[in-house]
Amino acid sequence: MLTDAPPRKANRAGFLESDQTRTLDLPQDGSLLTITKSIESAMRRGRSTDVRRTCAEFLDAASEFYGVPTCTVLVLAARPLRTRERGTFELFGDYSPDSMLIRVWMRTAVRKEVTSFGTFLSTLCHEFCHHLDFKKFGFVDSWHSRGFYERAGVLYHYARGTALKKLFWVPLAGGRLLVRQHS
Ligand SMILES: [Zn+2]
Repeated sequence: MLTDAPPRKANRAGFLESDQTRTLDLPQDGSLLTITKSIESAMRRGRSTDVRRTCAEFLDAASEFYGVPTCTVLVLAARPLRTRERGTFELFGDYSPDSMLIRVWMRTAVRKEVTSFGTFLSTLCHEFCHHLDFKKFGFVDSWHSRGFYERAGVLYHYARGTALKKLFWVPLAGGRLLVRQHS
């Protein structure tokens, strides 16, 4: 995972705020955990309609807790492959702020295997955090800042019932940072 480079002028303040917002409030009841368990069993059965329904339940409950409009979700079969200058990477999901639509892919692009539950849930939380950036925090853009990855990690580990992992940042050229996590 890589952070975006800080924008040059106009949006720099927003980026810094995103970068410095390192945590996220979490619900105190276990409702999200119950829903993620049903996402996991729907994935195990491999039925995309059940996966979609349980993901929608997760997003409804999370949106209600954060006081933002609900976003919709599409669960698609195989992930598209995207070609970039340096090799190919697989796209796990995306979020469109205009339509408030999250798309997540259940199967890997190459071998068409069902994505691991951890990767899938982490993607869902990541895309929902883009939604929060626009609707809760009111950022003009949703950057992959350090704060963004921290917030997405807080939500993911909470929703999965696992211990939060500390993230480390390795500076790269151009102001970007490489995200590493230690178990
Ligand atoms: Zn993203």
